[in-house]
Amino acid sequence: MTDKNPAATATTGATAAFNGLPAHVWPRNAARGADGVVSIAGVALTDIAERFGTPVMVVDEDDFRSRCRDMARAFGGPEHVHYASKAFLTRTIARWVEEEGLSLDVASENELRIALMADFPAARITAHGNNKDDAFLRACVDEGVGHVVLDSDQELERLDAIAGEAGRAQHVMIRVKPGIEAHTHEFVATSHEDQKFGFSLASGSAYRAAEAAVKAANLELVGLHCHVGSQVFDAQGFTAAADRVLELYSRIHDELGVILPELDLGGGYGIAYTEDEQPLGVDEVAHDLLTAVAKTAAELGIEAPSVLVEPGRAIAGPGTVTVYEVGTVKDVTVDEGVSRRYLSVDGGMSDNIRPALYGSLYDARVVSRTVDGTATSTRIVGSHCESGDVLIRDAEYPDDIRRGDLVALAATGAYTYAMSSRYNAFNRPAIVSVRDGAVTPMMRRETIEDFLALEG
Ligand SMILES: *Cc1c(COP(=O)(O)O)cnc(C)c1O
Repeated sequence: MTDKNPAATATTGATAAFNGLPAHVWPRNAARGADGVVSIAGVALTDIAERFGTPVMVVDEDDFRSRCRDMARAFGGPEHVHYASKAFLTRTIARWVEEEGLSLDVASENELRIALMADFPAARITAHGNNKDDAFLRACVDEGVGHVVLDSDQELERLDAIAGEAGRAQHVMIRVKPGIEAHTHEFVATSHEDQKFGFSLASGSAYRAAEAAVKAANLELVGLHCHVGSQVFDAQGFTAAADRVLELYSRIHDELGVILPELDLGGGYGIAYTEDEQPLGVDEVAHDLLTAVAKTAAELGIEAPSVLVEPGRAIAGPGTVTVYEVGTVKDVTVDEGVSRRYLSVDGGMSDNIRPALYGSLYDARVVSRTVDGTATSTRIVGSHCESGDVLIRDAEYPDDIRRGDLVALAATGAYTYAMSSRYNAFNRPAIVSVRDGAVTPMMRRETIEDFLALEG
């Protein structure tokens, strides 16, 4: 990854291009009208900003739902797909996921509670986490959560005891470290296992955990789980991990006489954040992955387990935009004869920490009108008391962008609101969903009363 925002630099000198909305980056129902205003699902972003204020997150409901269906189709049915709710979760979103027939991953007791309050069936929920406390484990057992993914020996023992007290047999998976790390466009097979999640395949601890789970009185082992990374763009990393994990299926079959019916290969399916990125081809990757699993299982002489996947970003990311209003415009001399324009917007690292945290890139466009200026070196920054509060670090935008314009960043659905903070006592933004020309409030904007209500 480079530090440049290629979506912007690629269009230098051709300002008309700044008014485009790259279809593989923007929500499926985004369009710029003849008046220059961008709408999503037929609702003008200017109208939403007027009614709900800015910053505001706008979720294209059909985009979200259609990506649930794309995943379900690719992986052989909705029962094979768990939406990783940590990417973006509200009760409304849990409802959509439920209605599309997918299952749901949670990684905290509160995520579980939100899902249950949305009437998400507990049997279709999987619980993750490297440090689940007793209250979370007890909630999983009491509510009848479908799978708990075990992450340590201690957790295995505690869950066995908790399930025993409740008189239940809890279905579990074992999270393994396959020794594969997959990231953007490449994967590395590594013996480096120095991270907090899961049991080691290489050292045999994953096998011993599986054996302990099989022998535990109140646990039923139904499969193994692994998660190889995020923003993965091809099947190689997943299939390499699957190959390694399947060897453990074979050993468990041979030595413990147990056939594990499920194999959970985690999430990480990549999306396009900028114009020059291409999203992962879900159908193609699913096909390659399922073919590879069937082939390896046949070679090992075991029954091919049912493959489960856990996309978060690929479902929640692309359908949402964050709309900001431009405030201060400042030209800063960065070198002799070289200046950079700083466009300040009314949010920033509190509603989207990803650029500051990971150096993430986004596609930003003026959405309240068409722009027509000369491309100029520009940085889009937030309003927080930190110079690292940057949303778009290094781009070229037309020089006619001014105070009062609305700017939107695309593909902000995943890991933005979910990671939001109250830095500088900012209010978390409002979220609305749009569908067929109608707006539905999803989360109201936080207020100072919400903040003060926690005191004392
Ligand atoms: C984060 C996570 C996911 C989702 O990852 P995405 O990159 O959003 O698809 C899935 N499974 C597990 C265990 C995770 O930790």
